[in-house]
Amino acid sequence: MEKIPFKTESKRLLDMMIHSIYSHREIFLRELISNSSDAIDKIYYKALTDSSLVFDQDNYYIKVAADKTSRTLTILDTGIGMSQEELENNLGVIAQSGSLTFKRDNDAKDGHDIIGQFGVGFYSAFMVADEVTVISKALGNDTAFRWQSSGVDGYTIVPDQKDAVGTEIVLKIKESTEDENFDEYLDEYRLKAIIKKYSDFIRYPIKMDVTNRRPKEGSEGEFEEYQEEQTVNSMVPIWRKNKNELTDEDYENFYMEKHYGFDKPLQHIHISVDGAVRYNAILYIPEHTPFDYYTKEYEKGLELYANGVLIMSKSPDLLPDYYSFVKGMVDSEDLSLNISREILQQDKQLALIAKNIKSKITSQLQRMVKDEREKYETFYQAFGTQLKYGVYSDYGSNKDVLQDLLLFYSSKEKKMVSLDEYVSRMPEEQKFIYYAVGNSYDRIEKLPQTELVLDKGYEILYFIEDVDEFAIKMLMTYKEKEFKSISSGDLGIDAFENQEQTEQEIQDNQALFDEMKRILGDKVKDIRISKRLKNHPVCLTADGDLTIEMEKVLKAMPNSQNVKAEKVLEINSHHEVFSSLKTAFELDRQKLSLYTNLLYNQALLIEGLPIQDPVDFTNDICKIMV
Ligand code: ADP
Repeated sequence: MEKIPFKTESKRLLDMMIHSIYSHREIFLRELISNSSDAIDKIYYKALTDSSLVFDQDNYYIKVAADKTSRTLTILDTGIGMSQEELENNLGVIAQSGSLTFKRDNDAKDGHDIIGQFGVGFYSAFMVADEVTVISKALGNDTAFRWQSSGVDGYTIVPDQKDAVGTEIVLKIKESTEDENFDEYLDEYRLKAIIKKYSDFIRYPIKMDVTNRRPKEGSEGEFEEYQEEQTVNSMVPIWRKNKNELTDEDYENFYMEKHYGFDKPLQHIHISVDGAVRYNAILYIPEHTPFDYYTKEYEKGLELYANGVLIMSKSPDLLPDYYSFVKGMVDSEDLSLNISREILQQDKQLALIAKNIKSKITSQLQRMVKDEREKYETFYQAFGTQLKYGVYSDYGSNKDVLQDLLLFYSSKEKKMVSLDEYVSRMPEEQKFIYYAVGNSYDRIEKLPQTELVLDKGYEILYFIEDVDEFAIKMLMTYKEKEFKSISSGDLGIDAFENQEQTEQEIQDNQALFDEMKRILGDKVKDIRISKRLKNHPVCLTADGDLTIEMEKVLKAMPNSQNVKAEKVLEINSHHEVFSSLKTAFELDRQKLSLYTNLLYNQALLIEGLPIQDPVDFTNDICKIMV
């Protein structure tokens, strides 16, 4: 029979499975059972909501059966089944090709990581089997189909016989070798243990024929073995269990089984509410940023169950955007099964649950900031940017919820600090919360603009992400303290002991500044004697609300308007360069022009801004060298 080739991505994955040296091969059973459970969820839901279908609780189960003589392991379910097209589309192509591409680019060499972190579903069967047969009959179809493959060279699909709707997967278990034991996947006790370990909470019975012993009739003291069907899993969904009965491992297993993420969860939140609204929820904060998290492809949402029946696999209404990283499920007895997606959005109960969930997540995160700082910083590393977007978006309407969850790097502590920590350390006379913006902590550390503020002993928060300054502008104040960029025109610090002397200095040099302004034209708004510089000759600052850093970010955006910060070139009158300027002004105007342009370009460089004409700039440098 002609074999249909696998799609390229699927072939790669399959190849990895077949040759994998992964040590936790047993998870293939979790993957297959979880697929079966999903398929039963679908038909169960249909049966409950469609009166033309007969509903009988006993109809829903999964059966696992091993046969040592034929070396087959069969997983049968009474789920919704697959049509010919579905077999073709679902098993011929892998669903998570995106994650595979991502992983391949990173570090997947032998597939070890993929299997460990990605939970690759159906194909994991090929870790233990040399041939996989899927016989399936879809709900509403008369014919069943048989999909079969023994590896990368393709698969076949032919019509087949099957009485009941559902799916039967038959694995031809690999022969054991000297190094590897595959016989264990045919062993009743081992299989039971694997099911218990990974699939205990599956809501439908997972049945197995197990061997029992009983006294042999008629012969005293002798026993005989007999087969008996047994339900192996406890079937109580984890979210209905008491928190005290559950271990971290239970929560981790549930996370893996559900494929909420491909990492381990950093934190779980188990909620049981029995009040105006009744619901159970298990929520997770992942440890790592999903590879597509900051893209349009990422979809937020929680699984939604109505009294134990899955009604939506990703309900976006349950999570605010700023908590879009949260994974997990919600089950409520107050929701109707027949509810449609559109009505669901307006559902009062659902809105209440969403509100409640939001506050639970907030308090969990707040608790972590205080009590589990290291863990919180791991979280913040992965999702802090999202929180900052949260502060900024919706016109700042969520800032009160989020402001205490923000962390920034501190010049003083050399680590991440919260705004509360900053403010509580402020000396009494300090009026503002100071921040500096740059590409990296190292670069900010060297910014000349920080000199005065640091000299005063004030702490500076370092902003290295584009969103930082925008978020802070939205906050405006924290505990009544305003934020201030160290590059802003007025720092709110009285720097000069002798104010009159400065006034005099400005007057004396007005003609020089006017000339320099003429040279630079509208590149700068003004030229001033700096109050903030100590050792550096020049720096750029900005008047008004729009800082130079914000201009940079806005300009980098697509269809950016021509926004411009009001740049001011500040000059350090105590620097040697200043007397050179004065001399040039008196004696050699051409030199003054050269110096002015050089200083301006230096200031641009320090700010990380592009120089308009780099060739001119280097020529200028050469001029002063010869
Ligand atoms: P995933 O479960 O992550 O989608 P899989 O490769 O495990 O990826 O399965 C692919 C798809 O095949 C499933 O989404 C489902 O539609 C279908 N499928 C797999 N197993 C079954 C089953 N036992 N019954 C019905 N459909 C199934």
